[in-house]
This record gives sequence, structure tokens and C-alpha cells, in this order.
Amino acid sequence: TALDHAKAKGKSKIIFFEQKLSEHKTRELKLTELLRESIENDFRDFELFCQPQVFASNGKLKGGEALLRWRTDEFGPISPAEFIPILENTNMIVPVGKWVFERALTICKEWLKFCPDFMMSINVSYIQLYDENFLDFVKKTIKRIDIPTSHIIVEFTESCFVTDKDMLHSVFNSIRELGMKIAMDDFGTGYSSLEILKEVPADIVKIDKAFVRNIQSSKFDKTFIRFVVELCHDVDIQVCLEGVETCEELEIISQMGLDFIQGYYFGKPLDTTNFYETFFRNTVA
Ligand code: C2E
Ligand code: CA
Ligand code: CA
Repeated sequence: TALDHAKAKGKSKIIFFEQKLSEHKTRELKLTELLRESIENDFRDFELFCQPQVFASNGKLKGGEALLRWRTDEFGPISPAEFIPILENTNMIVPVGKWVFERALTICKEWLKFCPDFMMSINVSYIQLYDENFLDFVKKTIKRIDIPTSHIIVEFTESCFVTDKDMLHSVFNSIRELGMKIAMDDFGTGYSSLEILKEVPADIVKIDKAFVRNIQSSKFDKTFIRFVVELCHDVDIQVCLEGVETCEELEIISQMGLDFIQGYYFGKPLDTTNFYETFFRNTVA
């Protein structure tokens, strides 16, 4: 158990066994079993939420990010920060990622009736890229659901950008050829964000919410956001800032030239019924 833990923490570490490590392992095994059951039962207990993204210039709805939720009778709702890594370590992210993609496209198609410019952002894990059927599945799903690909943004995290560059180039090219956009998620948290951006350019960069937390006191964070916006705009990349929660934060970033904002200030992730009620109820389909 201690060895597993050391490996999970990035190897070359000394970890002493303690009781809580074994409790952690037991919980992980239980959750793994329950995740497998959910998948086998037609993705029971999974739900797709959506968080609004707005234009920084006027606060109007631009689209949303599809965010996976999972709950079990025994444990209640479990954070994606806990269950996504389990799905990735067991490869179960491959079927679940497909379910997410299909569901997000179905929802997006429906909402295009109320908001013809709606953009749906979908998270894709780097593990899904190693699945040789990934692109084929994407193509078939787009065709079956019959949705214009210009409304789909695929989000990858930096961890994915550090894997096999040749493979990444070829998958990204195919995604673009299909007409979808690529966003680099959690920008600024990885080891070499700028290098990756140079080598595998994205259409949209999403600056991580860590840069907003101390924005009122941190000159570095403010300068970083401004710098990323300037750099990206020079090379035709749009910039979204994540994690804006308060009016004070919005005030500070409002002069920075950002393209989009996603944060609790404009809306938390909502289930599809609530998202519809909040944003589309009063629009005519
Ligand atoms: P992410 O892709 O960076 O998604 C944004 C996360 O930030 C979401 O957490 C969202 O609820 C949270 N967030 C948004 N605005 C604010 C804010 O103003 N303040 C704070 N404190 N948080 C904010 P969530 O839904 O818990 O998801 C966590 C992560 O799990 C995601 O981070 C993503 O990496 C992963 N994830 C979620 N759904 C999927 C999925 O369908 N597929 C894959 N591969 N990963 C997913
Ligand atoms: Ca994301
Ligand atoms: Ca993010």
C-alpha cells in the first residue's frame, strides 16, 4: 500500500505506512467497484451538468462546459477530483468519456434551438486519446446526432499535452479538420505551459482558477493574466479565465482584454433542467 501511494505521488518518494493509507485504498477499491457497476447499468448514477461561460465584454451567455457528476446510494455525491482519476487509472474513462461526449452533443443540439451560437465545451482525458477508436467514435457520434461541429470545443489539460507529441499533433489535426475547436485547460499549472502552447497550439487557452484566488493582493497573478492575454491574442488564441467568484475579482479582471469568463459569479454548474430554466426559459425556440 505504501509503495502504491509513493508511485501515485510521483515516484522516488519514501512513504511510511499508516492506517489512513489503507483506509484510502479500501475506499478506492469500493468506489472502483461501484463505478464499474454504474457503467454496466447503462451509466446509472452518472449525470452531466453544465456550467455557463460568458463573453467577458458583456457577460452574455457564450456556451457552457459539460461537467460530469456521479453519486452512489452508499457514499452520496463524489467529487470528480476523486472519481475521474479512478476512471483514468482503470481505463473506465474510455466508455465514460464516450457517454459524456454523446450526452454533451445531444444537450448542445437541443440548446441550439434557444441559443443558435451556443458553444459546448467537453473535457477529454489524455487516456481517451490512446483509444484507437476515439476519432472514429467522435466522427460517428457527430454524424448520428447531426450537429454542426463548429459548436463543439474539446478541452484537454496540460498533463495531456506532455504525452507523445506526434500522436497529439495528429489527433489535434483531425479534431480541427472535423471543424471542432481545441482548448488548453488549467493553463499555468503545469511545468512548461508556454513551451507546450508553442508546440501544440490551441484555439482557446483557459487560465486556471488558481490565478484568480489571490488576485486582489498578488501582482504576479494580475500580471500573469494580462501577459497571457497579450501573448495569446498576438497569435490568434482566445483566452478564457476560470474561477471568477466575486464582484471584486470581476472588477479587477474586467480591463484585461479577456475573451470569456467561467466562474461561480456568472453561474455554478447546473443540471440540464436548471440550466434551461436559468438561461433559456424565456427565449423562444
Ligand atoms: P475543470 O475541467 O478545470 O473544470 C472546472 C472546475 O472548476 C469544475 O469543477 C467547476 O465546478 C470548477 N469551478 C468553476 N468555476 C469555479 C469558481 O468560480 N470557483 C471554484 N472554486 N471552482 C469553480 P468540477 O466540476 O468539480 O470538476 C473538476 C475536474 O474534474 C474538472 O476540472 C475536470 O478536470 C474533471 N472533469 C469533470 N468532468 C469531466 C469529464 O466529463 N471528463 C473528464 N475527462 N474530466 C472531467
Ligand atoms: Ca475543463
Ligand atoms: Ca480548468
